[in-house]
Amino acid sequence: MSGGAPPVLTVPIELNFLVLNGACWDSGIDFFSHDRIENRKAMTICGACPVESECLQYAMAMHEKYGIWGGKTPPMRNKYRTKTNNEARVAAK
Ligand code: SF4
Repeated sequence: MSGGAPPVLTVPIELNFLVLNGACWDSGIDFFSHDRIENRKAMTICGACPVESECLQYAMAMHEKYGIWGGKTPPMRNKYRTKTNNEARVAAK
């Protein structure tokens, strides 16, 4: 994903879409590992995934608490959620 926030998702993407198009499913990497090296490997795969933006939006919409989704760890997604919520509040003023 390059720069800027991905568009806001209004309808959750089907998980099947990610399964069929994601780069992770046959990678042999554990995307739900607690190992930092494994997480780095997962994030690298996400960086080259054709559906990275959609995957992140899916994880955000579904409030996924675990694993690497769209190249982000759970703490990264929490930070991203706070940032986008703050931006939405400012825009609404
Ligand atoms: S962005 Fe990462 S977790 Fe999501 S489908 Fe692609 S490779 Fe899998």
